[in-house]
Amino acid sequence: MVANSAKPSNEFPVATDAKIEQVGDIVRLTLALSRPVEVGTSVMAAPDRAIIELPSVNFQVQPGATRKSVGFVSAFRFGLFTADKSRIILDLSQPAIISRAEMRSQRGGFGELVVELKRVSRAEFQAAANTPSRQPAEPPPAPAKPHGDSRQLVVIDPGHGGIDPGAVVAAVEEKAVVLAFGLGLKEQLEASGRYRVMMTRDEDRFVPLGERVRIARTAGADLFISIHADSLTRAQDVRGATVYTGSERATDAESARLAAKENQADAVAGLDVAEEVQDVAGILMDLAKRETRTFSSLFARNLVAKLGGSVKMHKVPLRSAGFRVLTAPDVPSVLIELGYMSSPKDAELLNSAEWRAQAVAAVRTAVDSYFERGQPVGKAASNQR
Ligand SMILES: [Zn+2]
Repeated sequence: MVANSAKPSNEFPVATDAKIEQVGDIVRLTLALSRPVEVGTSVMAAPDRAIIELPSVNFQVQPGATRKSVGFVSAFRFGLFTADKSRIILDLSQPAIISRAEMRSQRGGFGELVVELKRVSRAEFQAAANTPSRQPAEPPPAPAKPHGDSRQLVVIDPGHGGIDPGAVVAAVEEKAVVLAFGLGLKEQLEASGRYRVMMTRDEDRFVPLGERVRIARTAGADLFISIHADSLTRAQDVRGATVYTGSERATDAESARLAAKENQADAVAGLDVAEEVQDVAGILMDLAKRETRTFSSLFARNLVAKLGGSVKMHKVPLRSAGFRVLTAPDVPSVLIELGYMSSPKDAELLNSAEWRAQAVAAVRTAVDSYFERGQPVGKAASNQR
C-alpha cells in the first residue's frame, strides 16, 4: 500500500443503510451514516422529484431496496455527483414536498438522516419547485432516467485526474488530454439532442475506479465510455488508437500490461486498494451478463470502424483485458486508448484541437450507429431503476 495522506473516498462518511416507509400520510426515508453531515433539500418538476443534497458520501447501501414504490415515491436512487456532493433523488408519482429533513447525531458519533415527504396540491408543489434553492456552485448533474425522457444516457469517463496524472510524457499529462477529449465528446453528443451525458469527472479531480463504475450503474447508463491515452517507455514508434472491452483474459501481453497499469490508479492516488482488489476477482467472474458483453463488443466494433475512418489506429485496434472500469455487469462499457503519448507523432495529435474534433466526431458517429442499430428494445426497459 502506498503511504499517502490523500485518501478521499476513505474519508467520506459512509451510508450503510437506507429505509423507506409509509407512516400515515407521509413517506419517510431514513439513512444511517458513519457521521452526521449537512443536508439540503429541494423539489423539481417535470418529472417530479425530491432531491436531498449531501456532501460526498460513500454509499454502501444495497441498491435493491431503492426500486420499490412506497406511497407516492415510485423509486429513489443515490450517488456521488461532484467532487464534494452526493444526492439522493426520490421520484414522485404525485406532487409532494419535503416537510422535514433532519440530521440526528447518534451515540458513537454516527448520524441518522430522517427525511419526510407529504402530499401537496399541484399548485403548492409548483410553487415549491419554482423557488430557487441555494444552487450548488456546480451545475446539477443530469438526473438519472427521468420518466418520459427517452434520450439515451451516455456516461463519459475521462481517466485519472487530480493527484493521479496518468501517463506523463514531457510536460503533458494523460489526465488533461483525456479530460479535454471527454468534454469535447460531451458537447457533441449533447448538441445532437439525442443523448443525456454524464461525466465521471468534468474537472481535474481524482475519482476512484470503483466509483466510476458505480456512477454509471447508479445513473442507469445505457453506455459507458472510458477515455485514456497510453504510453510505452521503450517503443516510441508504436502508434494509434485502440478500443478495449473488459475480459478476464487479455488479448495479448500488452493488453494485460496496460490493464494492470490502468488498474493501479487507486493505488497511485493513495487509496487502500486491498479490498477493491479482492472484489475485482469476484466482479470479473460474473463480469457482465452475456448480453452486456455482446453490446460492449458491438459498440467497440462500431468504434473501431468509425475511428479508423479518421484517425490512425493501432495495428491490433480491438482488444480486451481486465480493466477495473469495465466491470459494470449491466452497462455496456468500452475503454478507448486514444493513442500513445510516448510517440512524438501521437503526442502532437493528442494535443491538437483539430485532431480532437475529428476523433470526437468519429466517436459520436459510432454512438449514433450503435443506438440506431444495436440497442435492443428490452435494454431500455431493464435499465429503469
Ligand atoms: Zn490511463
